[in-house]
Parts: sequence; C-alpha cells; structure tokens
Amino acid sequence: MARTLFEKIWDRHVITRGAGGDTLLFVDRHYLHEGSFHAFTALAREGREVRSPKQSFAFDDHYVPTVDRHLGIPGVADAEARGLIENLARNTAKHGIRHFHMDDARQGIVHVAAPELGLTLPGLVINCGDSHTSTHGAFGALAFGIGASQVKQVLATQCLWQKQPKSMLIRIDGALPPGVTAKDVILAVIAKIGIGGAQGHVIEYAGAAVRALTMEARMTMCNMSIEAGARAGMIAPDDTTYQYLAGRPHAPVGEAWESALAYWRSLPSDRQARFDREVGLDASRLEPMVTWGTNPEEGVPVSGAVPDPANEPDASRRARMESSLRYMGLTPGMPISDIAVDRVFIGSCTNGRLEDLRAAAAIARGRKARVPTVVSPGSRLVKVAAEAEGLDKIFLEAGFEWRDAGCSMCVGINGDQVPSGERSASTSNRNFEGRQGKGARTHLMGPAMAAAAAITGRITDVRAL
Ligand code: SF4
Repeated sequence: MARTLFEKIWDRHVITRGAGGDTLLFVDRHYLHEGSFHAFTALAREGREVRSPKQSFAFDDHYVPTVDRHLGIPGVADAEARGLIENLARNTAKHGIRHFHMDDARQGIVHVAAPELGLTLPGLVINCGDSHTSTHGAFGALAFGIGASQVKQVLATQCLWQKQPKSMLIRIDGALPPGVTAKDVILAVIAKIGIGGAQGHVIEYAGAAVRALTMEARMTMCNMSIEAGARAGMIAPDDTTYQYLAGRPHAPVGEAWESALAYWRSLPSDRQARFDREVGLDASRLEPMVTWGTNPEEGVPVSGAVPDPANEPDASRRARMESSLRYMGLTPGMPISDIAVDRVFIGSCTNGRLEDLRAAAAIARGRKARVPTVVSPGSRLVKVAAEAEGLDKIFLEAGFEWRDAGCSMCVGINGDQVPSGERSASTSNRNFEGRQGKGARTHLMGPAMAAAAAITGRITDVRAL
C-alpha cells in the first residue's frame, strides 16, 4: 500500500497498539533543555532510572545569558536561571546524558545545535519538551514536542504513547521571487490556513519551491508548523539533506552511512500516497510577510495594510482582530510600512542560523541602525562561523549588538526582554501578548526584513534596500 513519509516513519516505530487506539512508539532521539527539570524530579521521586541515556542529548538554551559568557555559570545574574542551568548539569551528569552546557563550544538552541551536530537524521522519531521540536522534521524525521510527564515517560522507557495524527500535504509550487524567504512562505501558509489549520495533522511540505530550499530554510519552515496547530512538519530527505549531513560529527560514516542512505532514500512519500488534507500555494506570488497582530496567522505582505476588523464576517475572528489591534496599538488601514519599531531582534530557533545572519548582514553592511538591535546566533558554532566571515564586524559597525548563543529575546526568560509598550521587529516565531516581555509588541518577519527595520526604524520592504 502506498504510504506517506510520515506513515513510513510511524509504522517503523510502532511497538504495540493499545486498546484505546493509542500507539506505543519507539523514540530514537530525545533532546532536553533547562525546562526538563520537572521530568527529572518526577523520575527521582518514583525511583526510576533513565532507560537509555545515550539516546538523550541536553542543551542549555532558554535561560543562558547572551552577554558576559566568559564568566561561566557564576556570571548568570538571575538566581533562578542559574539554578535551572545547574540543575540540568546535575541531572545529566547523574544519569550519564551528554550535555552541551553553556560553556561548551557546541552549545546552542537545541533546534539549531542538534541538527548542526548531525544528531538529527532522516527517519528518526525525535522528541523534546519544546513545541518547536517540529524544526527537525526538515530532515525527514518525525519530530514533535512533548509535555513534562511525557519527557519523564521517554526518559524512563525510551517510548511514548501517542494517538496517530492525520496527514496533510502543503504543496508550494513555483519559484520564490527575490527578497522572499522561507520565513515569508511559512507566515503566508499560516495566514492562509490559520493557527488551527493543521490541528491534529502532521504536515508534509512539498513542491518545487520547497525542494529548492536549503536545509536552513527548510528548518525555518518546519519550525513554525506548530504555529498552524500541526503536530509536526516534515520535508522528504533528498540530496540537499544528505549533503548537509555528510561529515557532521554525529552523522553515520562508512558502511553505516551507506546503509542509512539506502533507508533514507526509501522514505519520501509514495507517488500514490493519500493525505487526509491537501493545500496548495503559489510561491511566485509571495511577498515578504509581516505580522500585525498577536498570533502568527495575523500576517500580511509588507506592501499591505493593517486589516480592518469591520470587514471580517466571522464574529469571533472579528473580536480577536479587535483585541490584537488594541494590544498592538495599531489603526485599521494603516500601511504596514508606516509602523515604527523601537527595537529589533535577530536570532531564535527560527532564524538564528548562519544563512539568516548572512541575510541580515547583507542589509546592515555600510549602514547604521536607528533603533537598538540585538543579534544572537542560534549556536556557538554559528557564532564562530559568522565571525570567521566577518559578519560580527558588519553588525557592530552598523551599531547592532553582537551577542552569544541562546533563545535570548525570542522569549526573554534569560533577561533579554523588550520593555513594556515597545514595538519590536523580531525574527522569532511567536508574537503572543507578552512573548518578548510584559506589554511588548512583536512583529514577526524574516532576518533581512528585521535588519531593514533596524536601519530605517520602521517596517520596511527589504526589496527597496
Ligand atoms: S528560540 Fe524561542 S521558540 Fe526556539 S526554543 Fe528558544 S524559546 Fe523556544
């Protein structure tokens, strides 16, 4: 029977099926971060051990400072953050789990650092106690976020009970116009299908525009699948995937590589495979996208205007739009390019990779920032690579701040926050109320667009620069 990429991976990982329709899945890789302490505490309370420590990998990311990192853990000013970082170190050491701690040269946001180390591979089932685990689906893995009690379950058993999601194909045909990136594609997808549009589904992205994307751009796309309500997002592995993986520290080598490659090549969805739902998008008609509201579906092309709720026939959606506009302090009909910003954040697991920093630097080169701008690379390896290319100098000469690696101002729990009432242009993935700090107003966009906003002090069509 013809099967989708998702079904092939799911079927291969089934251990047993339960009475209630749930399936017990084998988990190949389990990623951890500072937030995993609940699971370790529960594990200790129940007197359990970690079933397979070699299949878990931990990263400090959410709470690490992006300044003064040379001071190490004693330099983490916030006692709670320091405690969580120390807690992860203690728990991973106790259970023999590999930990890329904040002083490690390979530290970074779990969804940036794990792929660049070659830990994320096609065909795997990958879990992490973080919603944006969907990022790893860019490699043709089935990767999804889990809650604290499930993190405990995976630590204790290396398995997970799950209800099988439905499958959804999002086909993006055509070629992306100049200045339009993967971030714009995924924001356009979410604007089209809505924040609940893929609920209960695993999305497979396909089509000529997707095949033409680099691995970094594919990760940006899959990262935001969760913002459309999807359980996971995936892209079939191909030569772009294999070229990215070859030679990575944890990728297979020699005969193991050859046999892995043979398996990976069997993964793409069969031609006759059926999806529960299909959606199409024409890439050639897309523009750079910007969000105006407080959820990722509230986005429009940069050439557009803030929408008027009065034109929305659906009452609950109209009420949501009105509430978003109130929080964001925007007027219906206002051109998006008239929106002034107070600060800019370039980074996160969506757009903190080398390619993103190159795109931002291309705009920053030879120009000066009008508003405070923070650049936080997604990992320390990205930081080193960016510095080797001189991107740090470009940013510093433009008046941007060049920070260390971590989640930083995406969520602000390390102290990098947008002050209340201020408006930020951000390359992250969530624009919820208070996401970047209490009262902060967030506009999501791609890295070149964010750099353009830094230079002009307002939301700007990067194609004009
Ligand atoms: S960068 Fe943001 S979205 Fe990504 S893992 Fe960190 S906090 Fe979550």
